[in-house]
Amino acid sequence: MTKYEPVIGLEIHGELLTNSKMFCSCSADYGSAPEPNTNICPTCTGLPGAMPVVNKKATELAALVGLALNCSINKHNTFARKNYFYPDLPKGYQISQYELPIASKGYLDVLEDTDAKQRITVRRVHIEEDTAKLAHEKNYALVDFNRAGVPLLEIVSEPDMRTVEAALSYATKIRAILRYLGVNSGDMEKGVLRFEANISVRPVGSDEFRTRTEIKNLNSFRALTRASQYEIERQIKVYEAGGTIVQETLGWDDAKGVTTSQRSKEDAHDYRYFPEPDLPPLQLSDSWIESIRAQLPELPEAKTKRFIADFELKPSEAQFLTSERSLADYFEAVIANAKSSPKIISTWIAGEFIRNVNELNVEVNKIPAKTLAQLIDMVTDKTINGNAGKTVLAEMFKTGGDPAQIVKEKNLAQVSDEGFILETVNKILNDNPKEVDEYNAGKDTLMQWFMGQIARATKGKADPNIAKELLVKGLEERRK
Ligand code: ADP
Ligand code: MG
Ligand code: ZN
Repeated sequence: MTKYEPVIGLEIHGELLTNSKMFCSCSADYGSAPEPNTNICPTCTGLPGAMPVVNKKATELAALVGLALNCSINKHNTFARKNYFYPDLPKGYQISQYELPIASKGYLDVLEDTDAKQRITVRRVHIEEDTAKLAHEKNYALVDFNRAGVPLLEIVSEPDMRTVEAALSYATKIRAILRYLGVNSGDMEKGVLRFEANISVRPVGSDEFRTRTEIKNLNSFRALTRASQYEIERQIKVYEAGGTIVQETLGWDDAKGVTTSQRSKEDAHDYRYFPEPDLPPLQLSDSWIESIRAQLPELPEAKTKRFIADFELKPSEAQFLTSERSLADYFEAVIANAKSSPKIISTWIAGEFIRNVNELNVEVNKIPAKTLAQLIDMVTDKTINGNAGKTVLAEMFKTGGDPAQIVKEKNLAQVSDEGFILETVNKILNDNPKEVDEYNAGKDTLMQWFMGQIARATKGKADPNIAKELLVKGLEERRK
């Protein structure tokens, strides 16, 4: 039986976080509009005679993304009309970029710390405008133009990916980069970031590019994964049965878990692209491009490498902490305020801390970095033990209180007073002669049980190291 490999190329659409729309002064924050069709003007509803004006901020954000993806910026780039008829497109064409996009030929490395590490070529990054929203009712459809004309960025990859994992890694990294740059919220539930997967399959070892299908509007990583897997298997089955794949645009039915045919795919000539006559070409100067480059923040990949080198974190830890810029910044702020090591801080943040954040659905800086640093230091210097630390942290999330105060109120301070601990140890040993004999006869597992008894008797406040030392001594003394 022939073995097949998938060939995948991704097109990613992301709305740009500008104040106004791409070619008019209506708000780009269409989600805040009180009613459908209130955030509109003659330009974004395509009234005759209305003239578009390019949003400067959108070109800056687009160039920023291009540079972040290692593209070259085209100093001369142009707008084009992409003509097609659909009720969500008021002008009957979309203003896009075709022959000369703002950025081209970049790359992004995926699956870095695996054997499948690979460099994916980014073919182009271009600017266009979003469409209106349709609401399909039973016998009719409603259209809301509030979103029409919102700046949209399209990032197109070469068909370089050979596994669904590579495609997922690529998409995940693009989302993280867009969020780092502050150009897109990455809020996929709101549809501000959408994936399209172009998929074909071919026999392993062949280097031909076979007919592909395109799955539109994938609104989550899960949908991207499931739809791609389904489509790969579907195409293999078609070839195995001696059939051919037709080039078409597919939808993804998430409930049924199947791709569905939407229309036979247009070729570029079907769109009758031509230069947008109402807009001059964009002429970008070197100094402008350099001023955008200067705004590039440290990106996730570079940050991960630095965290591994400077803080001696494992790649998985560093990757987690750099997955969001806010989390990475927070981690570094805690380090700056704490005496504890970055390793210890990383364990707290990636563990108990993020568990609380997710459970309560709050921002990471709900607890000031300085306050978390105090708490972690209290555990490190043994003012409280680890378990008490978790209790205090939960309380801090609840009340926003100060850790030292909470320790005092809840009487959680760890006891290192040997006299007190010895008293407790002796009482437990004297009360449980049977267990003492069993332990001394070789039942080592009872050590845990004794420690548990001490923890219970002292409400977890006894310094475990001292307790263990005294316990071992006490058991030895009772050996017959
Ligand atoms: P257009 O959309 O202008 O027709 P292309 O067909 O070249 O442009 O590419 C659109 C997307 O499809 C790109 O992301 C590209 O990587 C991908 N693609 C092109 N050919 C194939 C193929 N044979 N298999 C899978 N993906 C492909
Ligand atoms: Mg396409
Ligand atoms: Zn408008």
